[in-house]
Amino acid sequence: MKHNFFEHLNKEEYEILANKGTEAPFTGEYNDHYEPGFFVCRACSNKLYESKTKFNSGCGWPSFDDEIEGAIVRYEDNSLGRRRTEICCSKCDGHLGHVFHGEKITEKDTRHCVNSLSIKFVPYKNLQIATFGAGCFWKVQYVFSQLLGVYDTQSGYMGGDSINPSYEEVCKGNTNHAEVVQVAYNPKEVSFKDLLTTFWDNHNPTTLNRQGNDIGTQYRSAIFYHSDSQKKIAIEHKNDIQNKFNSPIVTEIIAKEKFYRAEEYHQQYISKNNLGLCDV
Ligand SMILES: [Zn+2]
Repeated sequence: MKHNFFEHLNKEEYEILANKGTEAPFTGEYNDHYEPGFFVCRACSNKLYESKTKFNSGCGWPSFDDEIEGAIVRYEDNSLGRRRTEICCSKCDGHLGHVFHGEKITEKDTRHCVNSLSIKFVPYKNLQIATFGAGCFWKVQYVFSQLLGVYDTQSGYMGGDSINPSYEEVCKGNTNHAEVVQVAYNPKEVSFKDLLTTFWDNHNPTTLNRQGNDIGTQYRSAIFYHSDSQKKIAIEHKNDIQNKFNSPIVTEIIAKEKFYRAEEYHQQYISKNNLGLCDV
């Protein structure tokens, strides 16, 4: 009965889901994929993983640190002379990959190592994206991730001159990238204006290229708008709140550029390291 789910698969997909094969590392379409949405089983469409649990383990396969409840079954696997835990789809029993613990990459200390060919990405339809620079992205990501209606946050770099910048390069201050947080939000639950309020309340928008002891263009206050509507709202909101500050607001309001996701150890940094906000 379960094999009905496998009938529509192509040869490569069948080899993995039905015959427990493994795709070559760094070849899968989802290895380096961080859009907001969820992943379903390619054989039976069972919902398996939320995109916010996806992280970059560097192993060459899509990595998740949590599953959707009830979506995954586990089997002991002693093949290849190793003791591993195989993970399969709970609905069709299709092979997904293996799960590992104790690597301490994310807060949950779990890595579901999954073949791209076993899964299919489904984007969230009603989410919008906003991008903010407000000093060190550790705190900014934490603050936005706590908001109702925010479905994904990622720390990264935007607005500079180099391609694929590293944290070290950005820190030197000569790539001109800003440390930013990209927020995927449902406008029916949290408006862009609500996000702006959180943005203004959690940094000082009147100090040019500086937040407290952090000095440099990477710490500049910036709103990278994704639409004309965001641009208009941001400019209006900035004018509305200017009278709350003694000095002029220096926040840049500019069109979004390419977002470069920061290294994994910067993602959810505060939660991962059990830091209270006062420690930052
Ligand atoms: Zn399935």
